[in-house]
Parts: sequence; C-alpha cells; structure tokens
Amino acid sequence: MIQRLIRKIFGRRASTVPRIIPVSQHGIHREQIHPCALKITRTLRAEGFAAFVVGGAVRDLLLKKTPKDFDIATNATPDQIQALFRRARSIGRRFQIVHVYCGADTIEVTTFRASQDSAGETPEDEGLRQTAADGLILRDNVFGTQMEDAARRDFTVNALYYDPHDETVWDYHEGVADAQKRVLRMIGDPKTRFREDPVRMLRAARFSAKLDFHIDVATRAPIAELAPMLKRIPSARLYDEMMKLLLSGHAERGVHQLRAEGLHHGILPILDTVLDDPIHKPFIHAVLHDTDLRVREGRSASPAFMLAGLLWFAFRNALEGLPDNATMYDIMDETLERQRKQLAFPRRLDGTIKEIWALQPRFEQRNGARPFRLLDHPRWRAGYDFLLLRGHGADATAAELADWWDRFEAADDSTRNAMLLPTTGERRTRRRRNRGPKRSTHDTTEGGQPS
Ligand code: ATP
Ligand code: MG
Repeated sequence: MIQRLIRKIFGRRASTVPRIIPVSQHGIHREQIHPCALKITRTLRAEGFAAFVVGGAVRDLLLKKTPKDFDIATNATPDQIQALFRRARSIGRRFQIVHVYCGADTIEVTTFRASQDSAGETPEDEGLRQTAADGLILRDNVFGTQMEDAARRDFTVNALYYDPHDETVWDYHEGVADAQKRVLRMIGDPKTRFREDPVRMLRAARFSAKLDFHIDVATRAPIAELAPMLKRIPSARLYDEMMKLLLSGHAERGVHQLRAEGLHHGILPILDTVLDDPIHKPFIHAVLHDTDLRVREGRSASPAFMLAGLLWFAFRNALEGLPDNATMYDIMDETLERQRKQLAFPRRLDGTIKEIWALQPRFEQRNGARPFRLLDHPRWRAGYDFLLLRGHGADATAAELADWWDRFEAADDSTRNAMLLPTTGERRTRRRRNRGPKRSTHDTTEGGQPS
C-alpha cells in the first residue's frame, strides 16, 4: 500500500496518461501489421471497442525487426470477442485468451487486465485473482483499464500499444525511450514483479539476448536472489519458455545470459558442466550457433534436435558406466528421465532424440550394405547434421566421418561402392549380434569418439 502510494507520487513510470506518439516519430505503418490483426482491430472498433496491437509486435516493429506474432488487446470481454468472430476459441486458465483464427493464422486477443496493485480491491475480484503467500500469481483474470493492462505487463518495451486506425503508439511506461536506449526495464518494483511470476526472469534473459538489450541495473539486481523461485513454476511452462529462448535465433547469447544470471540451475544444470568443459564446450556452441543460423534463415529447427545436442554428454557420460545388463537404450531412457525431472520436455520428442543418438555409432559402419541402408533411414539427415556438429565441436573422428558421408551421399553408385571400407568387421558384428542385441548396440556406440 505504502509502496503503491510512493510510486504514485514519485514513480516516473507509474503513468496514468499515456504518451501518444504519432507515426512521424515511431515509423510503424499500418501496412506492417498482419492483415488478420488489422481485420480484428477494425471489427472490434466498428463495434465500439478499443483495440490495439500490443506487446512483442509493436516492440519488434519499433526496432525494425520482423514480429513473430501479432497480439491484440481490447476492452471487449472474452465473451464479447467470441461473439464477434465466427472462428474464435477461448483458451487458457491462468490468463483467459481468445484465439481468433484467420486462414491458417491465429491471432491472440486478450481483454485488458488489471495490474497486481489494483487487484482484489472489489469483492468480485476475489477468486478471479489468487496470489500465494510468497507473491506468486496463481490465477489472473481480473479485467481492467488499458492503463492497468499496461502496468501488469513485464518490461517497458513490452507495454506499447499500437492503434492501426490512426497509427499512433500509446506509451504508458516510457517504453519507446527505453527501446532507443536499448534497455530492458521492468515495470514497477522488479522484486515484486519477479516474485509474482518468476518466469519473468527467464524472459529477461531471453529478451536481452534477442534484442541485444542491456538489462537495467535495478531490474537485474534481485534476479540472483530470486532465481530459486523458478522451482515453483510448473515444469511444462518452464519447458515452453526455455524453448522460446533456445529457438529464438539467439540461443547462444541467451544461454550465456541464463548462466550469467544463475537461472539455469533448476532447469538445465548440465549447462554448468558442458560450458566449463573444454572438450564439451565447442560442441554445445556448435549446436546453439547452428540452431541460431537455421532460425534466422527461416529453416526448421527442432526442439528434439536441440535437446539431443544439449543432453548428448549427459548420455555419453552415463554410457561410460554402463552396467553389464543394461542396453544403450536403457541409458538413453534413464538420461532423458533424469533430465525431464528438471525440464519437462514432452515424451513425444524422446523417439527422435534417441534415434539421433543411436545413429551416431552407425555412421562408423562404412562397409557392406550398411551405408546404403543408413542413407534410407528416415532420420538420416538429422543424424548426419548431428555428426557434422560433433565434427565442428572439435571431434576429429566425427569430422572425418562427416566428410566421408558427405561425399558418399553425393556420389554415384560405382563411386559409392569404391568408397566402402573392407568388410573385416562383418564377422565381429555377427558374433556380437549372436551375443544378443544388448551388447551389440552398446559396443558399437562405445567405439564412437566422445566429442
Ligand atoms: P515474442 O516476440 O517472443 O512473442 P512477446 O513480447 O510478444 O515476445 P509473449 O510471450 O508473446 O512475448 O507475450 C506478449 C506480451 O504479453 C508481452 O509483450 C508482455 O506485454 C505480456 N506478457 C507476456 N508474458 C508476461 C509475463 N509473464 N508477465 C507480464 N507480462 C507478460
Ligand atoms: Mg508474442
């Protein structure tokens, strides 16, 4: 209460009146807005509602970047929004959002929500907002004014509203000035805001990496102390947020930012080991760097491939101490389960991760019919890309193998046959296979060089 009063009196950011900035100053034109988002804001406006493009899209356009998605904020309630659009669905429990479908695209439309400070003031708010004893918001569906909606957003650059009708930007928290200074600044008291939702700490790391922004000193200050609060966050949400960071096109910088802030402990503790180890580090960097390139070039980058890379050494190390009665696949399962306790990546990714790992020793088998069969493997490309990155990660054997496979793939049949290695290993493998598949998969893997 006192804090709120102080902020009201002194806080330069507790603005009740937005700065309304004309297009001549911010340079965002209507044509840059997704046609579906334009259609939705027009429809809402025609019905007498306020409707703005908000959040990341405005921020990115201001920074001359291409927005990932276009979100809309309005004073229409979810029911009113749904009544206006034929293809619309209300989703979300923590926040109620309406998805409006438009062709193949989906636009998120949210009703202005109240900020933490003003919540719970009326009896009706009770039950709509739940806050735990330590400040964590559990449910947040209190509708509010646009000003309140701006105040409950995380960073000043994320609280900009663009009105496509007159091309103005509504700025309640000096977000445009911060964007010019390239500063990521929390709205309100950073400690309180991180306590309300610890995921904002991960978002701080992500946005500072993605935007190449400096985290404001006061915003950064409480992170080290509050980082353990991430344990309170459901692991599925942590996974989603981590993937946003890892597949943002700025994973290399983002992972370093995470580590610098000590935020990885409860999520990907393996980063400590792999980024400090001179043998592991080049490979992890190769994985992150390559993913960044792919994303920036608009090519596909899969969560499974990323996880296969980040967890490769966890798997390799577990394999070292393989007990006699365990197979390579047991170790894979065990590695994935152990990691999943921290980062709840979906089980549907396991198959691909395991296939990528299991293909690695098979690249060493370059005799007989095996290389031909391997080329037909549905995951050949992912496996080969992984091998290539192991090579880039200072594994000379993997680099040599990747070079051989590169040439083998490009060659005609007679050249391929000439490239095959003598089949001396054939009998050995057969004998191994007779000892049962358990040992054979392990042995061949062990033959691979840890990168
Ligand atoms: P991106 O480009 O990654 O989509 P974004 O800023 O659009 O970035 P979203 O996660 O799509 O991020 O969220 C949209 C907007 O919702 C944000 O810009 C911010 O205003 C608000 N927001 C999202 N998550 C939070 C949060 N945890 N706390 C406060 N505000 C949030
Ligand atoms: Mg967004």
